Amino acid sequence: MRNLLTIDVEEYFQVEGFADVVARDTWDRRESRVAPPTRRILDLLDAARQKATFFVLGWTAERHPALVREIVARGHEVASHGYSHQMADQQGARDFRRDVRKGKKLLEDLIGASVSGYRAPSFSFTDRTPWAHEVLLEEGFVYSSSVFPVRHDRYGVPDAPRHPWEVRDPNAESGAGKTLLELPPLTLRAFGQNLPVAGGGYMRLFPGALMSFAIRRMNAEGFPAMVYLHPWELDPGQPRLPGRRMNRFRHYVGLASMERKLATLMERHAFTSVAQHLGLAPQKPAAAAQTTVSPPLSSVV
Ligand SMILES: [Zn+2]
Repeated sequence: MRNLLTIDVEEYFQVEGFADVVARDTWDRRESRVAPPTRRILDLLDAARQKATFFVLGWTAERHPALVREIVARGHEVASHGYSHQMADQQGARDFRRDVRKGKKLLEDLIGASVSGYRAPSFSFTDRTPWAHEVLLEEGFVYSSSVFPVRHDRYGVPDAPRHPWEVRDPNAESGAGKTLLELPPLTLRAFGQNLPVAGGGYMRLFPGALMSFAIRRMNAEGFPAMVYLHPWELDPGQPRLPGRRMNRFRHYVGLASMERKLATLMERHAFTSVAQHLGLAPQKPAAAAQTTVSPPLSSVV
């Protein structure tokens, strides 16, 4: 069974754990480091002949259009991580809609193809966002991977399903309704609770064997495992930010071994993109997308 590998493409300073020490208006003054580790992930995928889904933050895509097009050109799926990395459960429905609409349109204009998937920043679909999936449906998304069925201080819905589940459009007529698929990050059922093992800090902290065990277990349950990581997790040389001890631990633990762990994971398990898994039309690496810039008027008249 092919599992789902997903990468949240954003800068190291945009993570929620540092939001209290990195002001948004300083983002543009900070060193961008997202492109090299993203390309190393693309190289690892090429070497392993596997595909992945890249949830790209709109703010980051705006500043790295060539990188976004390269992801598609190399056969992977571009999906949306929203525009501004605001937590969904700290926004109202209206601001949330504005953010996802802006992020989706920006990516679609960049690649010249439609964007079907969405992941909320820090899995911030919680019991405070009962409107979130409905907004995604209305904005034309096909799937989401935004609800982490675990207990955590920042995110999570501990009793949410561990397996993919469908959200029906409540406004659609019965039977004919559109649906949105929610694909929860990988958890391992143990000791009467859901242990988060899907990637990110958990992947850096836990031995690779535990993750492999959890993937095989999920596959035995009949479903692909949803795995995630960030480019900054393959960048041990990134500047160290101040902040709370717990947040620093979560961000910096195991950075040096992450690239090797990812390569090993790809050797042990087959991965693909969500689009390919769901049989969605591939985002063609459109030459058209790169030449849609209109010629200056002077050259036309
Ligand atoms: Zn993020």
